[in-house]
Amino acid sequence: MPFYTTSRCVGELNRMCVDVCPVQCIHAEEGVDRMAFIDPGACIDCAACVPACPVSAIFAEADLPPAERSFIQVTALYFTDRAAARARVPATA
Ligand code: SF4
Ligand code: SF4
Repeated sequence: MPFYTTSRCVGELNRMCVDVCPVQCIHAEEGVDRMAFIDPGACIDCAACVPACPVSAIFAEADLPPAERSFIQVTALYFTDRAAARARVPATA
């Protein structure tokens, strides 16, 4: 069961999680993406990224708050159609 980035990452995008992921499965294109995305097919569920995130934006799928569950679909879309996924990332609060 993979981990997901959520709304607190939008606009924050400091990449602390990217640096600790042992399988480099957290992606964010410099200057284009407004949030990072975890590749659910590559994540090995190690949880190393969770404490690394300064805004607590990363959750295991089972622990996703109801309001954040839409990021499951947005994440899946990111790894098939990045432009479509970017269009679905909400505005920064
Ligand atoms: S849980 Fe582990 S493998 Fe998955 S994104 Fe986080 S650091 Fe990477
Ligand atoms: S550490 Fe948190 S805020 Fe920074 S890119 Fe990762 S999920 Fe986003």
